[in-house]
Amino acid sequence: MGPLLQVRGLRKAFDGHEVLRGIDADAEAGTVTVLIGPSGSGKTTVLRSLNVLEVPDAGSIRIGDVGLDFAPGHRVGKRAAARLRAQSGMVFQNHNLFPHLTVLGNVMEGPVVVQRRPREEARADALALLERVGLSDKAEQFPFQLSGGQQQRVGIARALAIRPELMLFDEPTSALDPELVGEVLAVMRDLATEGWTMVVVTHEMRFARQVADQVLFLDGGVIVERGAPSAVLEQPRQERTRRFLRLLG
Ligand code: ADP
Repeated sequence: MGPLLQVRGLRKAFDGHEVLRGIDADAEAGTVTVLIGPSGSGKTTVLRSLNVLEVPDAGSIRIGDVGLDFAPGHRVGKRAAARLRAQSGMVFQNHNLFPHLTVLGNVMEGPVVVQRRPREEARADALALLERVGLSDKAEQFPFQLSGGQQQRVGIARALAIRPELMLFDEPTSALDPELVGEVLAVMRDLATEGWTMVVVTHEMRFARQVADQVLFLDGGVIVERGAPSAVLEQPRQERTRRFLRLLG
């Protein structure tokens, strides 16, 4: 069947400036891919493209049995975009929870409103997911009543609720106070152990070392180096990778 995620020749320009200049990547089912690179290298644009929040100018993306081709001047249909989007659950840097909905309401929103699943089924599912991220007792609270780490864990439960094939994390801990980072990384570790396929943009190198199956180093819109964390992070072959890792400390 091949890899769960297959990205070929992905290109994207904003205002004539090429941000992605031909990205090729595969991820096998059940593996964790960590995307690292300097600010502005295109990491978020790759992730947003996988979730079709950005429409690439060229290339193709396939997640499971849903694929999309992109070409200049070729409009992507709403339905086709929605089908690919439903294959992945996205966790944002700033959780993006709906402030007027309870925690439970936030987790039920996608399944009920977008996927039109029966309310009772979505509710039972959402409660189970909240238990999994350690927030059963917060179901009836509103986002503002939670800590940043708890909000981010709700964000993870909400992304899981649509039952995606692939989980995408865009710097999920970088907006958090340091003492709250661990609880979010712990949930992500659990998901990896359970066999979720994940693509994670992060500066948490310890997480990358311990959890990633492959690390992709992005610079200037291209993948400059890729491989196991022991190779890319411990023995980088490219000077650009070495410089980036030195700067991180
Ligand atoms: P990273 O996640 O590695 O920091 P991004 O993918 O966020 O990089 O951004 C790559 C480049 O694309 C940056 O120069 C950024 O300013 C630009 N960019 C990203 N999104 C947009 C957008 N919607 N409109 C214009 N420029 C954008």
